[in-house]
Amino acid sequence: MLSAEIIAIGSELLTPEKSDTNSVWLTERLNEIGIEVKMKTIVGDDAARLEKCIRDAVSRSEIILMTGGLGPTTDDITRECAANALGRELEYHDEIEQHLRERFRAWGREMPEINKRQAFVVAGAAILPNPNGSACGMLIAENGKYLAIFPGPPKENQPMFLNHVLPHLDKLTGDVYVRRRVVKVSGKGESAVDEVAAPIYSKFSDITTSILFNKSEVEIHLAARADSPEKAEKIAAEAAEEVAAALGSAVFSTNGETMEAVVGKMLAERGETVSTAESCTGGLIAERLTDIPGSSAYFMAGVVTYSNQAKIRDLGVPVEIIEKHGAVSAECAEAMAAGMLERAKTTYAVSVTGIAGPDGGSDEKPVGTVFIGIADAHGVQTKRLQIPGDRFLIRWRASQAALDILRRRIIHHDTSAETASKG
Ligand code: ATP
Ligand code: MG
Repeated sequence: MLSAEIIAIGSELLTPEKSDTNSVWLTERLNEIGIEVKMKTIVGDDAARLEKCIRDAVSRSEIILMTGGLGPTTDDITRECAANALGRELEYHDEIEQHLRERFRAWGREMPEINKRQAFVVAGAAILPNPNGSACGMLIAENGKYLAIFPGPPKENQPMFLNHVLPHLDKLTGDVYVRRRVVKVSGKGESAVDEVAAPIYSKFSDITTSILFNKSEVEIHLAARADSPEKAEKIAAEAAEEVAAALGSAVFSTNGETMEAVVGKMLAERGETVSTAESCTGGLIAERLTDIPGSSAYFMAGVVTYSNQAKIRDLGVPVEIIEKHGAVSAECAEAMAAGMLERAKTTYAVSVTGIAGPDGGSDEKPVGTVFIGIADAHGVQTKRLQIPGDRFLIRWRASQAALDILRRRIIHHDTSAETASKG
């Protein structure tokens, strides 16, 4: 199996403001053709470190992909460093300069002299054209190894990689294809999921599996390897479906979708609608639902009733309920959902009220106490949860739990309708 490594270049990638997403995308593409990424490095705009890094990479890996630092400014040093590390010259290409001048002219500007730097190419490299930017990429063959250099912006390097580098690599690897599935499970812990899933996925010899907990759900990553893309796809799908069948309704996706996308699709398919009444999640559920294109077909309205007065005024929560049970109570969640359903006239109304912390907890209702209500024509159900985590996680997990309860209610509708039609 061929080994690859990725070098992301740019000092901004070493700050908290900017993360290296190029290597994540490239890794995914390489994995799909059966190339394993053995190492990733992020290097700042530091010539000595970058040169050393390239030299080391060439000595240990067969495929080296580099992104960033091909711009015209003096902090863009990738060209020089690559040439030095490989012991090659930089060659000036008049045709690149001409092309750059034309690009600038097309924008109605003169090319700044500084952009001439971008006409230098490592000797012997194949030039990779860049229709979306000024820096061209390079593909260098060195003792049977491949080194590719791409500009930093994803919209420039992705088409360049797909059109000019991937076909070469694909040939090198021969017939190895990898396809992935991500099975997402809610309301269960990692070990409980693995107990059920492991006996299934371990039967597949051509699948590698990893299980991880992600904020509010367990994810089972299945990567199938085969000698054709179709075969790999089939094996991955088979394993995902078998695992999902064993885990039952806790599985909300076998294809990596988010909870909101899954719920949205279910509502759209059934021509059903939803509205939300939120307190501690502050509109997060509405935000997540409306993040999905086409959500106007099923999301009708959402209110954030943070104060007691708002719950009373906008949702008709009886003042006695708040006085007797408090705003964080099953009774209040129930009244919120019922009030929302009546006002929005949707198929479902979802409500959330809870204590996200860090203050406001008590012995009886500690931080993380969350009540979720769901109302439909059959009545209102509530659920009490004790959610671990900080404020961010409590709010996120409450929104996830509410969406999951909605999902299960939709499924429940289906099955009760089936039973009714059978009876
Ligand atoms: P340009 O000609 O645009 O200057 P460049 O090759 O010099 O291209 P950089 O200056 O290093 O590239 O980066 C340009 C932009 O590309 C960055 O501001 C950043 O938004 C994006 N970028 C660079 N490297 C990465 C990376 N590893 N992951 C995600 N985005 C990146
Ligand atoms: Mg730059």
